[in-house]
Amino acid sequence: MHGDIMKISRLRMATDGTGVSTLVAFHGCPLRCKFCINDQCHDERTSYSDVSRNYTPEALIKVLKKDDIYFRMTGGGIVFGGGEPILHAEFIHEVCRLADPAWKKRIETSLYGDWRSFQVLVNDIDEWIIDIKDMNPGIYKKYTQVSNSAVIRNLKMLRKRVHPKQIWIRLPHIPGYNTDEDVVRSRDLLYTLGFTRIEEFTYEYSRFVSTKPHEPRMLEIPGLLLKNTGLEKKDE
Ligand code: SF4
Repeated sequence: MHGDIMKISRLRMATDGTGVSTLVAFHGCPLRCKFCINDQCHDERTSYSDVSRNYTPEALIKVLKKDDIYFRMTGGGIVFGGGEPILHAEFIHEVCRLADPAWKKRIETSLYGDWRSFQVLVNDIDEWIIDIKDMNPGIYKKYTQVSNSAVIRNLKMLRKRVHPKQIWIRLPHIPGYNTDEDVVRSRDLLYTLGFTRIEEFTYEYSRFVSTKPHEPRMLEIPGLLLKNTGLEKKDE
């Protein structure tokens, strides 16, 4: 079994939940968001780091172990992202099985996909970070090119199986696609479905109109923060 890994980014802080984390970003995503933050994930032929794309779960665990002490000291661990990591659910399940139980396991997902893939991970993942885009089907379709009916179905399934504290929903204000009122409507709907951890944020439209469409746009940790902690962010 191999993971189609686009990037491994170590020693991240303040971007993926509590503590120091290692982001494992996978290739592939069924969505086509207008302001995609990782557009390289759609291109099977390129990788913007020299990371081997054919990691076995065991080889990946070896890399993750390098930061074992930081994970334990800070309550951090692994973050599976992408692209859409759920396309690699079986691989992630195996990594979680081999990982130290003390490490936190988080996943950043759009929740778009077949529920059976999400179900594989329900008992593995400590925290689900869900980028919901917008709850309005028309806005979602216009922004991502796909329907959000599977997302809403999966939200309801996940809510039944996972404690609400384990679900962190990210709700963006998307310039040109939704209004503040749309975001309020999405938030209210999410509350009625039983979700309480909802973070609103605004896409920085200028980043997307002023950069080339395929330029890497992974979130970076502020250097000052790293200097202050004595840690230095590394790409594997
Ligand atoms: S879900 Fe994420 S990776 Fe996929 S198209 Fe949207 S922004 Fe890009």
